[in-house]
Amino acid sequence: MAAMSRETVQSTATEQNASILPAHGDAIRVVPLHQPNNALDAAIPPQLTYRNGPLISAVEVFTVFWGSAWQHSPQLDISKNVNQFFTYIVTSALMDQLAEYSVPSHPIGLGRFTGTTTLTTPRLGRTVTDSAIQHMLQQEISTNKSFPRPSANVLYFVYLPPHVKVIQGGGASCQVFCGYHNDINGQILYAVMPYPGCTGCMGGLAPLDALTSTSSHELCEAITDAIPGQGWYDDANGEIGDICAWRTKQVGAYTVQLEWSNASNACI
Ligand SMILES: [Zn+2]
Repeated sequence: MAAMSRETVQSTATEQNASILPAHGDAIRVVPLHQPNNALDAAIPPQLTYRNGPLISAVEVFTVFWGSAWQHSPQLDISKNVNQFFTYIVTSALMDQLAEYSVPSHPIGLGRFTGTTTLTTPRLGRTVTDSAIQHMLQQEISTNKSFPRPSANVLYFVYLPPHVKVIQGGGASCQVFCGYHNDINGQILYAVMPYPGCTGCMGGLAPLDALTSTSSHELCEAITDAIPGQGWYDDANGEIGDICAWRTKQVGAYTVQLEWSNASNACI
């Protein structure tokens, strides 16, 4: 795979996404698997353009750890660290760098982490579909008083435990993607993060670092393209994080992914 050209990677990703993403055409909204050649080598320079859809101005992140595995070590510690990561990162330089994508109706500023819950019901099987995740979110929003109501700023991050495969539109975690963000009728914004239990979703990182990298990817994409393909998007390269997939840096104590900057014409 090391000799694969970027064009081959691109066309493969396009084919995969065209076949698995019926809801919003072929909008790419996933973290792809790690490849040895994720480094950018653009024949066509990436350029995100704004499609007039919503952006998240002041993100309010609420995390949902689904499955009893999150109540025990080592997942319990990882869940606490993920919450600390969000508490820090939504007021960090990572948010500042997204300000270049502000538009008058949707200025992008700092956010906040609003809370977390661990769900042991409904019980998970070995696979969970995106529609089951949507159903869970809608049920919890309507019945669980500890769940925030949806809004244009609320972003639910759903974390799955080890050994649970996520199916989204015919693609599976660890086979096609390592995470994605989505919306329910444009009203409920959410991201789904499968546990990084395979080489393609570890990227050579420790599990927490892989999770903060992929979570930062989806956080920045949800903010700049809340309804996939309707915010800032590049028809050839996808969303802000896709262009720089698996290229990481440190912000504070955390590993995050580089994001495309139109202003810098680079992953920063
Ligand atoms: Zn992405």
